[in-house]
Amino acid sequence: MSVGIVGGGVTGLATHHYLREAGVESVVFEADGEPGGVIRSRTVEGRVLDLGPQRTRLTPSIRELIEAVGLDSELREADDPPLYVYHHGKLRRVPQTPREAVTTDLLSWRGKLRALAEPLTDSAEEGETVEEYLTRKFGSEVARYYFGPLYGGIYGSHPGEMPVERSLAKALAGAGIEGSVLISVARKVLAGREAPPIVSFDDGLQRLPEALAEAHAETVRLETPVREVRRDGPDGERAGEDSQFVVETPDGETVVDELVVTTPADVTADLLAALAPESAAALRELNYNPQAVVHLHSDADLTGAGYQVQYDEAFRTLGVTWNAGLLDRDGVYTCYLGGARNPGLVDRSDDRLASVAVAEFEEITGASARPLSVHRLRRGMPAYDRSWSALDRVSTPEGVRLATNYTARAGIPGRIREAKRVAGELADRRGKSTEASTATV
Ligand SMILES: Cc1cc2nc3c(=O)[nH]c(=O)nc-3n(C[C@H](O)[C@H](O)[C@H](O)COP(=O)(O)OP(=O)(O)OC[C@H]3O[C@@H](n4cnc5c(N)ncnc54)[C@H](O)[C@@H]3O)c2cc1C
Repeated sequence: MSVGIVGGGVTGLATHHYLREAGVESVVFEADGEPGGVIRSRTVEGRVLDLGPQRTRLTPSIRELIEAVGLDSELREADDPPLYVYHHGKLRRVPQTPREAVTTDLLSWRGKLRALAEPLTDSAEEGETVEEYLTRKFGSEVARYYFGPLYGGIYGSHPGEMPVERSLAKALAGAGIEGSVLISVARKVLAGREAPPIVSFDDGLQRLPEALAEAHAETVRLETPVREVRRDGPDGERAGEDSQFVVETPDGETVVDELVVTTPADVTADLLAALAPESAAALRELNYNPQAVVHLHSDADLTGAGYQVQYDEAFRTLGVTWNAGLLDRDGVYTCYLGGARNPGLVDRSDDRLASVAVAEFEEITGASARPLSVHRLRRGMPAYDRSWSALDRVSTPEGVRLATNYTARAGIPGRIREAKRVAGELADRRGKSTEASTATV
């Protein structure tokens, strides 16, 4: 085999797909019995529940992948519905247009006027946190009640603990925003550029990794955890085969020329411990935020994508996705609890987590609810907090590439973008070409 890919989450499977499209031999080793990693869908009482991510944006690359694996007919598209922040006793609509920015009750008039001074401020300073950066740019109201909860809330981190260069700077660069945020956004609005639509599939988001694994079933090895990765023997016993790495799994050894590692940082640290001990030690320092995901059923007729809870509020809920309204999922609401503020919460019993989610949902929305399922992600979202400065000490040995949410962005579009880039580089080295190696991704 030419390329060994460790991990059959969406990154590993997309990398595999692009490599195979380019005619590069590769094999995926996945520890679990099913593909998808944190993307996991289940059906409970006939309702589709997603245990990790709830949706993705249908970027051109994701649309192509969906077409390539024949999932078009299962696609479920959402409008771009309103989003809310719970702050000071009620759900307040997040402004998405200039007109809503004027009328929103999330900010005072003073806060709104202060935000208009943003084009006069400088770009991010070295060592600045997301909260410091947003406060300096937009004023404290916009930082604390608008961008802060929307950005930090996604990761379960406090913006005051997130260095800009490890987090928001990458998101802004990815969105093509340079210099003034307000001016860049205004230019996009004037040019009529819209974000790609929000999508999932009839049977949940896991259909994408499932279909990728099905399309390449003979080279995706499920229930095959990689135990060790080492350089080929110094005695040259395999030198004639022109190979570089031995991948050890319970099924035996596989020899590959190059490796793509897509596992969470602690697993990668174990796998690289012998090959790159200093990088492995640094990877062990990266914090992930533990989260509990509690699905509720409610007859609440809420129109929108959901809400984030402003982080000064006395709730343990980070945010709730309104799957019912967003993706037409019969009465389903998904609550995320825990994060950096409450890391120990995931260790509580299912009953306790369910009762916290129900009580807080009922208090915030005024609608009654009952639990459907409780799921835990102990190393769920990358925290992108100060511990991530350890990444400066990570370098991979020749022949090993990382494609992960610590080498690029966490969202599914970002994962696919990185998979395409890495596959393009590997194909180029072999004189093959993927679409990625001939086009800008
Ligand atoms: C709670 C949550 C909500 C999210 N919400 C969204 C969202 O709404 N929209 C969005 O775009 N993104 C969202 N994301 C981000 C996105 O889902 C993830 O970043 C992405 O799915 C990660 O995919 P991956 O393949 O890089 O990693 P993973 O999914 O972590 O895959 C790594 C794989 O490696 C396997 N593995 C581990 N150890 C071994 C081993 N020793 N040998 C072989 N295999 C091994 C694992 O089983 C796993 O399958 C969310 C993430 C989380 C956690």
